[in-house]
Amino acid sequence: MANKEQCSKCGKFLDLWDFQEDFSLSRFLGYGTKYDGERLEIKLCCECMEKLIDECKISPIKI
Ligand SMILES: [Zn+2]
Repeated sequence: MANKEQCSKCGKFLDLWDFQEDFSLSRFLGYGTKYDGERLEIKLCCECMEKLIDECKISPIKI
């Protein structure tokens, strides 16, 4: 598989499992942010996604 997509956080090349999760966010950033008018495109591998979830004070996991 010729995959060139990398995790935004750790730089790892995304594998099949990462693609299956497809943890990505794409949107324009608004006025008032440091990146006013710029575009955010973030993709995370499973490991970084899990880390992000673990770091949340309010668990984003709903059962
Ligand atoms: Zn990662």
